[in-house]
Amino acid sequence: MHTIFKSEGNNTYLYDHHSRLCMLIHPSLVRCQKDKNEDYYSAKFEYLRQHLLQFDDCFTLTRKVTPQMVFDSLATTPSVVFEVTDMCNLKCKYCAFGEMYEMGRDRHFGNIEIEKAKLLLKYLFNIRKVQLNNEFMIGFYGGEPLMNIEFIKEISEYALSINDIRLNLKFSMTTNAILLKKYIGYLSEKEFELLVSLDGDSLSHSYRTFPNGKPSFDIVLHNVDYVKSHYPDYFQNHVSFNAVLNDHSSVSKIYHFIYNRYGKIPEITQLLNKNVRNEKMDAFNKMFLSKKNSENEYLNDNTKVIQSSIPHVSYSEEYVDFIKDYSICSLLPTDFINDQLELYYPADTCMPFSLHNRWLILASVTETSVSSPWSWLHN
Ligand code: SF4
Repeated sequence: MHTIFKSEGNNTYLYDHHSRLCMLIHPSLVRCQKDKNEDYYSAKFEYLRQHLLQFDDCFTLTRKVTPQMVFDSLATTPSVVFEVTDMCNLKCKYCAFGEMYEMGRDRHFGNIEIEKAKLLLKYLFNIRKVQLNNEFMIGFYGGEPLMNIEFIKEISEYALSINDIRLNLKFSMTTNAILLKKYIGYLSEKEFELLVSLDGDSLSHSYRTFPNGKPSFDIVLHNVDYVKSHYPDYFQNHVSFNAVLNDHSSVSKIYHFIYNRYGKIPEITQLLNKNVRNEKMDAFNKMFLSKKNSENEYLNDNTKVIQSSIPHVSYSEEYVDFIKDYSICSLLPTDFINDQLELYYPADTCMPFSLHNRWLILASVTETSVSSPWSWLHN
């Protein structure tokens, strides 16, 4: 799904909802959707259609966002993610809410309010318009969400209890796995889609420590192994992994460890390189490893563990090629192309009420800032 819109200066832009990438395009590209005889731009169109976009769903946006558009967006939103808590039982060295980043200063170690979350769900269910598969995903995110299991259980049960319109309800959660063994019974019963944070082997995972500085690797591994051996079907179908790349690891090491041990291909994310505190810049630079460089090393590694093509390795390459060859957007900084591709996608707020809008409800917002967004629920 993407949106094409014009600016006041009559420039044409394309916003891709999947990648959240907004780019300046030639107006002929729009015509190519209907007229395939424009050879030069037809080639561009074909490239985009094959690699990036679902042109069939294209629509053109007028600049005015109406109340009806807002309502329709809410009525068709596919998912809500609750930041259950900003507390955590770990104190990872590179945590975005830790000492390394400016955001760490805003942390207030609180839980989200259950009644407000219920109010939101009730409202969304009431106005719900039937979708193709009628799927609705409720996500739980932290901090470490299992530190507030009461919220997770209560909201899950509440959503199931008010599901008169028979939404295809699904639940998802990201976890550091410290409390996984304790709560796996409930999570597997409700078939939570689980994303486990595991950076690879013991050394690769060594920045994930407890507040007292002790490593978390042994406990995480023990708990994940437990799920694999005691809930094999659930593990096979609903558990995936995310690893944070750092100077103690590499794409190759991560794939070797997680694929060999669990038969899964993990997502790999690069350290966030924005909003690093000045006094922590040296520590950050030491810890940082470029994903693109490490991916390239992996692709040239003849001993690589996964021989078949790995979508998300080539994924960034596709985008780099696309941006270089087919976009004339001058706003992209050079290091966007070279290194930091996925960190510079414009946020959802560029197009706040796009039809694929997703809601992220934060535990860490203050009472003042939350009061106005919530007020419409009462109207
Ligand atoms: S587990 Fe996640 S939230 Fe907790 S300290 Fe580590 S990175 Fe931060």
